[in-house]
Amino acid sequence: MDLKERLEEFLRREYEAKLYELAKEGGTSLVIDFSVLDRFDPLLADELLEQPSETLEAFQEALKNIDLPEYSKIAIRIRNLPKRKEVRIRSLRSRHIGKLLCVEGVVKSASEVMPQIYDIIYKCPDCGALIEVKQDGTLIKKPNFCECGRRTNFDVEEEKKMDVRWLRISEPFEIAEGEKPGEIAVFLKDDLTTTDMQRRTDPGNRLKIVGIIKELPKRIKGKKTTKMNLMLEANYVEPSEKEFEDIKISEEDVKKIKSMANDPLIFEKLTQSIAPAIYGYDEIKQAIILQMFGGVEHRLPDKTKVRGNIHILITGDPGVAKSQLLKLVADIMPRGKYASGKGVTGAGLTATVRKDEELGGWVLEAGALVLANKGLMSIDEFDKMNKDDQIAMHEAMSLETISIAKASITATLPARTAILAAANPSFGRFDPMMSIIEQIKIPETLMSRFDLKFALRDIPDKERDEEIANHILKSRTDLTVATPVIPTDLLRKYIAYAKKNYTDIELTEEAANRLKNFYVDMRNKYTGEEAGVVSITLRQYEALIRLAEASAKLRLDKKVRLEDAERAIKLMSYSLRQLGYEEETGVIDIDRIESGVTTSQRSKIGAILAIIEELEKEEEQVSVEDIKAEAETRGIKDADSLIEKLKKEGIIFEPKYGYVKRL
Ligand code: ADP
Ligand code: MG
Repeated sequence: MDLKERLEEFLRREYEAKLYELAKEGGTSLVIDFSVLDRFDPLLADELLEQPSETLEAFQEALKNIDLPEYSKIAIRIRNLPKRKEVRIRSLRSRHIGKLLCVEGVVKSASEVMPQIYDIIYKCPDCGALIEVKQDGTLIKKPNFCECGRRTNFDVEEEKKMDVRWLRISEPFEIAEGEKPGEIAVFLKDDLTTTDMQRRTDPGNRLKIVGIIKELPKRIKGKKTTKMNLMLEANYVEPSEKEFEDIKISEEDVKKIKSMANDPLIFEKLTQSIAPAIYGYDEIKQAIILQMFGGVEHRLPDKTKVRGNIHILITGDPGVAKSQLLKLVADIMPRGKYASGKGVTGAGLTATVRKDEELGGWVLEAGALVLANKGLMSIDEFDKMNKDDQIAMHEAMSLETISIAKASITATLPARTAILAAANPSFGRFDPMMSIIEQIKIPETLMSRFDLKFALRDIPDKERDEEIANHILKSRTDLTVATPVIPTDLLRKYIAYAKKNYTDIELTEEAANRLKNFYVDMRNKYTGEEAGVVSITLRQYEALIRLAEASAKLRLDKKVRLEDAERAIKLMSYSLRQLGYEEETGVIDIDRIESGVTTSQRSKIGAILAIIEELEKEEEQVSVEDIKAEAETRGIKDADSLIEKLKKEGIIFEPKYGYVKRL
């Protein structure tokens, strides 16, 4: 019995009903489970692995013999290859050429869907013979000769076209840790390019692809060379859902994790396990622990989504271990990545569209944030990222997607990533008297998307300096100082386990009330006389809930309790105080954190303007000295800096040295 007959028998026995159903519904592909074929006939299954092109073609022939109600073009797709056929991209070699394999990777870039000619039927003008020439290269191929002897100038009778798309996939980074991840081009055609498939194969998606390894001539300036690259012609594509793949959690691990979760000091122990070599920063480390576990994503009935990921910003003087901390966290966190806002090239942090010589045409390329989907992204020098990234970051940080529309490509890519950012003050050092927004070049709109913000100041302090110096010395000589309380291996498993199994966490009434009251109190505390001071906004309220959820999650509890609410409130107050506490009025002033001018400053600016207006009634130009004297009598001591501000904002100007005038 030949191959075709055998395959026909297989199709009739195992998939006949399915085929009729497909034909009736206008389906385009039949997905065959490899293990079913293997059970039917192991030799046939081997044939498919070793000679996939021929076998798949024979499948098509066999299909023609099955009397389907209406002839429809049904592609045969193979899924569930045996484990030994799952090959890492970096292990692909020339001996794999022509074989059927399964490869897993994250889509880094993708071309547009383009029509391509795959077959041309020529007609000989002399004898009228039809000659079919398969088009498998870039340049159009013509017949060499006709049976009648003619060699040139054949007419084109028919061009057969299909839709194609090129992807470039790279190894998922937990596999390629520390090494440069392997990459391979993937070729999709026909119904693997439908709009639905297009969305699923956009950059950022993680795929498992069954296909045939082929060679792709390397092109240099558009010319073919003798060098070859490997490519994968896809036969079947499915999303790979494994989230924390490399983290194998045994039953014994689960037991250990559960008993750790019952320890009343678990939060402290987890906190001490982050960067023990870095001295101090307890609150920041606590915040980072909560960030690693994350809150819970909420989908409201009207389909709006509230993110569960917690974003943290650390600002501060140079040399206070910001970068060090960011790198360590990216290492500990499963699917964690580190990038610098200044250093990223190519697709940048978010996504980009560019011309690709090799794939041909425009390609959409995923940046670091998209590739870290469902993980944690440490972004150093956050204030130095480029404009495009900064714009895209707004969407990424609240909606957790990145939309791009450039050239002919429009797409929305996933970016469900927690962000731990660090920024330096633009004037080199942090000035505690100025609001952070004035000192860091991050727009207010972006700033407010961080759940917690910290400022690290490097103020000489004999006692503390000595302690840090000792700590650094000790951690170099006595290794136990820098050893985390919970080994990093176990910590990673703990986080992966909690994230996977605790996706629905509820607020208890007690906790909900505590959070709500804190929020309402803060907002209403300073109305009336202090009207205009908005202490806290809804963004902070949502952040509080996320932090409390994370706190419950790390205890492996599905309920947010009072202690979780208290923990969230404590961190939030700390963060607000650090950056926005107003010494003069004792009010936490969100306006100062996020817009740069404090409310009391605003009223003082108003007072200065009033003074200038009054004095202007007496003379054309008002001397700065007079303004300062008058301000003193009204209790305003920093008139100088307020006058500077007014000048900077173009409200007054200096017609001659030492004098000002209103515009
Ligand atoms: P930044 O990014 O804030 O400018 P770095 O992360 O480059 O600073 O830190 C500079 C160096 O100082 C690092 O080697 C870091 O380990 C050390 N360092 C600074 N503060 C501390 C601290 N509190 N504990 C231990 N090491 C510290
Ligand atoms: Mg740094």
